[in-house]
Amino acid sequence: MTEMNTTESSEKKSLNFIEQIVEKDLKEGKNGGRIQTRFPPEPNGYLHIGHAKAICMDFGIAKKYGGVCNLRFDDTNPTKEDVEYVESIKEDIQWLGFQWGNEYYASDYFQQLWDFAIRLIKEGKAYVDEQTSEEIAAQKGTPTQPGTESPYRNRPVEESLELFQKMNAGEIEEGKMVLRAKIDMASPNMHFRDPIIYRVVKTPHHRTGDTWKAYPMYDFAHGQSDYFEGVTHSLCTLEFVPHRPLYDLFVDWVKEGKDLDDNRPHQYEFNKLNLSYILLSKRNLLILVKEGLVNGWDDPRMPTLCGFRRRGYSPESIHKFVDKIGYTTYDALNDFALLESAVREDLNARSTRVSAVLNPVKLILTNYPEGQVEEMEAINNPEDPNSPTHTIEFSRELWIEREDFMENAPKKYFRMTPGQEVRLKNAYIVKCTGCKKDENGNVTEVYAEYDPHTKSGMPEANRKVKGTLHWVSCNHCLKAEVRLYDRLWKVENPRDAMAAIREEKNCSALEAMKEMINPDSLKVLDECYVEKYLAGAKPLDYLQFQRIGYFTVDKDSTAGHLIFNRTVSLKDTWSKISQK
Ligand code: ATP
Ligand code: MG
Repeated sequence: MTEMNTTESSEKKSLNFIEQIVEKDLKEGKNGGRIQTRFPPEPNGYLHIGHAKAICMDFGIAKKYGGVCNLRFDDTNPTKEDVEYVESIKEDIQWLGFQWGNEYYASDYFQQLWDFAIRLIKEGKAYVDEQTSEEIAAQKGTPTQPGTESPYRNRPVEESLELFQKMNAGEIEEGKMVLRAKIDMASPNMHFRDPIIYRVVKTPHHRTGDTWKAYPMYDFAHGQSDYFEGVTHSLCTLEFVPHRPLYDLFVDWVKEGKDLDDNRPHQYEFNKLNLSYILLSKRNLLILVKEGLVNGWDDPRMPTLCGFRRRGYSPESIHKFVDKIGYTTYDALNDFALLESAVREDLNARSTRVSAVLNPVKLILTNYPEGQVEEMEAINNPEDPNSPTHTIEFSRELWIEREDFMENAPKKYFRMTPGQEVRLKNAYIVKCTGCKKDENGNVTEVYAEYDPHTKSGMPEANRKVKGTLHWVSCNHCLKAEVRLYDRLWKVENPRDAMAAIREEKNCSALEAMKEMINPDSLKVLDECYVEKYLAGAKPLDYLQFQRIGYFTVDKDSTAGHLIFNRTVSLKDTWSKISQK
């Protein structure tokens, strides 16, 4: 009994605040014990790592409590939306390992929302305003000063009805008229000061074509859509806290006492993901793509889910990261290093170890018979006790990393230097005998002698040497291009830095971005050598280039031109730099 209580309470502790709310609601039998959430992206861009945090919450809650999470496209702004985005959003959610119950669209409710708006006009709760958006904004007042009522606020119902019809019939120019809810121009909550609930947009909609010209605003669509679908917990981010009273009001109005009182959606807010060295928001990412500062939405430097996927992140590593940062009710800036460490942790358990030489210099084993080839066994993943192995060919001429040889080395250099022994991974102990240089003093060949009694697995193989180097056999390797990615931004908090630059220079977002961008975010190495085993590697395979980092095959890679992306280095080089 006592034991059970302890387990129960320790489980309680680890619940996040939303899970606590859900458990309490379930205990109290709210909504008939039903749990229903939704993930409501606007299809105006590709999903980013911030969305992953929301997805893990929305789908995670439903999964954990036997509920359902629906996917609802919040498609109320036809000028920015596209089916391309709809498709990519679905792909990315599934990649994260989630499956929605139903696929809904806010546009499915355009008729219901329209009917509701008509009802509000008839009830004297909404009116058509003919002022410009600037005039309306100027009348809003401030949080401490009441706003000014629109001269159209008390116009006859019939007039508003007629004009609202005209707004939707295409007879009114964009920006010339809006429908506003009549609430309270003196409310301390600015969102209650007669919010705009409908506007005219003449761009055809990606689903409803030109059926509609009057479109509901977010605040008029979201809560009602939740209500129509039967959402119980409407989870979103903190910027919607001030919208919540309006959300509740519209739900009250649309419900009209039709249902039991507790059978309605409730909105709860958690903190947005904000990551150091990362700029989120689809609006910003779209600028990067459109202006060619990156190569598309799935450029591996992008914080989009498709970018991270192409770069070699596993979905599990993103889950791990989201678990680490958790959910709170205050904003913070999380360290990008935390995401990278989650990726390393996951890929360490998952990746196949292979050999690749990125900056090659030739090593010749002068006492190894010419023409002889041995097949060495390499364990795919030493972290896995049941790991398979693969073979790697060994011969007289090998490629090693240029920085693994030094002619005059300092004392603690445990790599290749004349007179010193090192182990060649999965093969023999070799002793460096010297090198050859060109007229400029550049090393062109390194020489060593191998000890035939030290092959990995042999009794003498245990002889102590301090360094182990990776290599590939010159006649048994493949040439490859390797793309090394680094942070896209030079500044730690790109969102704030961008705002500051724009204010100081009164410039566009693009110009501010150009000042913050890291010119060295992509480095292409086009003369690398990888072991032949990688001929069969495919995009999304998780690889570790031993001693270097985690890599994957890029989607542009072909049999004749192999391309690898660096997912993340083996160690965090940036924190070392910042510690200096
Ligand atoms: P963006 O500014 O990137 O377009 P958004 O909030 O406008 O973001 P939506 O498509 O409207 O994007 O959002 C879908 C869901 O994802 C919302 O519930 C939103 O709160 C959530 N979301 C968006 N950005 C983040 C973030 N950085 N962290 C956590 N959740 C986020
Ligand atoms: Mg948005």
